[in-house]
Amino acid sequence: MSTSLLDNPVLAQELPDLLPMLDWITDPERVARLSYDHARFSPILKRDLANKKAALVVRPRSTDEIRQVVSVCANSRIPITIRGGGTGNTGQSVPLHGGIILDLSGYNAFCWTRGLTGRAQAGIRLEDFNFHARKKLLELPWVTANHPNATLGGFFNSHHGAEESIHFNAVQAAESILGILVMTVEKTPQLIELRGHEAMRLHKMCGTVGIVLEIEVGLAPFVPWLECITKFEAYDQALIFASSLTQSKELSQQRIAVLAAPIPNLMMPLTHNFKDHEHAVLLILSPHLKDKFQQLLSSCGGQWVDRKQSETLHPSQSNLLSLMGHQTSNQVLKVHKSLLCIECHFKASIHLKQIKNIQRDLQDEVFMHTEIFCKPSGELIVMGLPLVQFSTEARQPACVHCGRRQTK
Ligand SMILES: Cc1cc2nc3c(=O)[nH]c(=O)nc-3n(C[C@H](O)[C@H](O)[C@H](O)COP(=O)(O)OP(=O)(O)OC[C@H]3O[C@@H](n4cnc5c(N)ncnc54)[C@H](O)[C@@H]3O)c2cc1C
Repeated sequence: MSTSLLDNPVLAQELPDLLPMLDWITDPERVARLSYDHARFSPILKRDLANKKAALVVRPRSTDEIRQVVSVCANSRIPITIRGGGTGNTGQSVPLHGGIILDLSGYNAFCWTRGLTGRAQAGIRLEDFNFHARKKLLELPWVTANHPNATLGGFFNSHHGAEESIHFNAVQAAESILGILVMTVEKTPQLIELRGHEAMRLHKMCGTVGIVLEIEVGLAPFVPWLECITKFEAYDQALIFASSLTQSKELSQQRIAVLAAPIPNLMMPLTHNFKDHEHAVLLILSPHLKDKFQQLLSSCGGQWVDRKQSETLHPSQSNLLSLMGHQTSNQVLKVHKSLLCIECHFKASIHLKQIKNIQRDLQDEVFMHTEIFCKPSGELIVMGLPLVQFSTEARQPACVHCGRRQTK
């Protein structure tokens, strides 16, 4: 690219002529599709973001291609919105001011594994990263219910922190993100390697500080997780069972979702196993904990519905994670389009009472979904992802931090 091109500001529409070797998407329908993420979970965001669209999309395949685009855009002050898999559900990869979408899904090489460390380009899908790591009997330390298209870069940059993860419990854990390679957005972009806590300064920044090109992750030994579906007649029992499991030291490695009736019956993959009034507890745990788990299940009045060892599942087959976290919301929203999902946290010591109060006050307006996990410190976390009947924006609960109405 000649320097004269950099000196003259250009419009976004002129970029394909300026950089013809790059993979540009200009078809209006495809550009509109790639200008949107899973914000459609929220009727409010769906309305507010409906007309936000980029002028075009570019899919760079190399660092040099990214550098060329960034340089011209910085010089011409063309807004850049970075996109990984576009599975964020708060509109984080929606271009608010036009410009271009920098789609990194093609910038996806797996670099290496060394000891308990792995490194890859940001556009690699989490599933593909695990495919490579498992050849060395390792895996990513987070067990998340992300959409299969979620990328490593999007995961690191989005507002989610995978707190519910099994091994290290969160992206924030010191052993989790070891380093990142970042490109600055300026006329002459710079490449900067950040290590440890310096790298974490860009965590959850939604691509507003720089373009994360590579991420180095502390990996965990691969576990052939046992995936279990259980059911309960009484909701209290389901919740007590899940809380006891998480608090038991021996049984602490797991991911647990408690789905109050009628959620299980509304999810296509579960519906044939659950009656309308039955509650589900979905679990992912270490196989050696099976016997202890069985005892606790019986004492809480629960029953097995199904169990599978995750190593027997083909990577492309959906596993239990595809029914947990926001995947639960995804499944239920397919049949109940007027619902929306709210994220909240309960106070662990009184969560049962808090949840019961909400159910008493809102009755049929709320379908309760909680996920319970334990921090390495032993602190019990009870996260709520209830599905609530949407009526008006004014009825949505406001965020305790900023006062804004919850929108998903
Ligand atoms: C059904 C479903 C289930 C989900 N379950 C979970 C879950 O269990 N745990 C969880 O944590 N999240 C979950 N999510 C949320 C979402 O999948 C995650 O936030 C995901 O990691 C986002 O990855 P992505 O590649 O799709 O990022 P995108 O949505 O494309 O981007 C997210 C943000 O990061 C920025 N960004 C992307 N790549 C880069 C980069 N290389 N450099 C700088 N900025 C960048 C984007 O601009 C945007 O602001 C779920 C979402 C859905 C739809």
